Amino acid sequence: MVNFCSDNATGAAPEILRALESANAGAAMPYGNDDLTRDLPAKFSVLFETEAAVFPVATGTAANVLALSSLVPPYGVIYCHESAHINVDECGGTEFYTGGAKLHSLPGAHGKFTPATLKAAITGAGNAHHAQPAAVSLTQTSESGTVYSPGEIAAIAEVARGHGLKLHMDGARFANALVSLGCRPAETTWKAGIDVLSFGATKNGALGAEAVVFFKPSLAESFKYRRMRGGHLVSKMRFLSAQLHAYIDDDLWLRNARHANAMAARLAAGLAALGGVSIRHPVQANEIFAQLPAATIQGLLDRGFLFYRWGPESACELRLVTAFNTPPADVETFLGAARDLAE
Ligand SMILES: *Cc1c(COP(=O)(O)O)cnc(C)c1O
Repeated sequence: MVNFCSDNATGAAPEILRALESANAGAAMPYGNDDLTRDLPAKFSVLFETEAAVFPVATGTAANVLALSSLVPPYGVIYCHESAHINVDECGGTEFYTGGAKLHSLPGAHGKFTPATLKAAITGAGNAHHAQPAAVSLTQTSESGTVYSPGEIAAIAEVARGHGLKLHMDGARFANALVSLGCRPAETTWKAGIDVLSFGATKNGALGAEAVVFFKPSLAESFKYRRMRGGHLVSKMRFLSAQLHAYIDDDLWLRNARHANAMAARLAAGLAALGGVSIRHPVQANEIFAQLPAATIQGLLDRGFLFYRWGPESACELRLVTAFNTPPADVETFLGAARDLAE
C-alpha cells in the first residue's frame, strides 16, 4: 500500500528500535534521572555548538506548547503564520498552556511570513487595553513544505528583538530543512536568533520522541515545573532519551531526512512533467502540494493510493509527504499510475 499521507504514517527506523532494546536492559532511575537523559544536554551542546538545555517530551504539540508557555505571560501575544501547527492543529493548546496568551496569525506566501508583515502586526505595547507582544513562532520546515534561509530567520529575529520578543522555532521537520539548506544546526537556530527550538524526531524515524531545546538556558527555568504540571514528565524517560541519542548518532537524522527529501524531489519532478499538474509551493523538503485534474485524483484514490486532499475538494489539491523510509518503488508506482490516468 503506497501511503503519502504523512511522515508519521511510517514506522520507526531500525536504529531507533535497537536503541530502545538496549535501553530496556536493567533498571534506570525514573523521571529523567537516568544516564541517557543526563547525557543529552552535552550531546545537544556539541551538536548546536552552544550551551543548550534539553527536555525530551513525547509529542511535538507538547514541545510547542510547553516551550511557548515558558516564553510568554498569559496576557502575551505570539505571532505565527496563519497555517502554523500551533494555530490550526493543536486544539488551542498554546492558549491553554500559556494561561490564555493570544495567537496572532500572519499571512504570507508559501507558508512563510516576512519581517515586514511581522513588523506591521506588532502593536499595542504598553497599552493596557491590548494583549502584549511577547513572542514569535516560525515553522521550519514550514506547513507548505518550504524552508526559511538563515538570512530570512535573522531578519525576522531582528524585528522580534527590536520589540523585545522571544523567538521560537517549531522544528517538527527540522532535519528536513537542515539538509535542504545544507547548513549547520547552529546557523538556522541560535546564530539566526532562535531562542528555543521544538526539535522533532518522530516524523523522521523516531518511534515517539521530541525535544525542547533552549539556547538561552535562563529561559528554561520554569520548564521542569510546567512539564510536570502539564502531564508531560515521562516516568520512563530513558526510552525517549535513547531515541534522541540514536537519532543523532552516526547522523541518522540527516541521512533519514536526505532520503525523504530526495524522494520528494523525485516525486515532484515526475508530477511536474505531467500535463495539467501544478506544483503549489516550491518543494524544498519532503512535502509536495500539487493541483491535479479531478479525474486523476479520483483515479489514484480508486487505485488505493493514500494521501490527503488539501483544502476544499473543488480545489483539486493534494498533499504528498515522503519519509525516511519511502521506497523508491512507491514513488515510481505512484508516478506510473498518475501518468496512466493523465493519458
Ligand atoms: C506534526 C507536527 C507537530 C507535532 O505533532 P504531534 O502530533 O503533536 O507530535 C508540530 N508542528 C508541525 C509543523 C508538525 O507538522
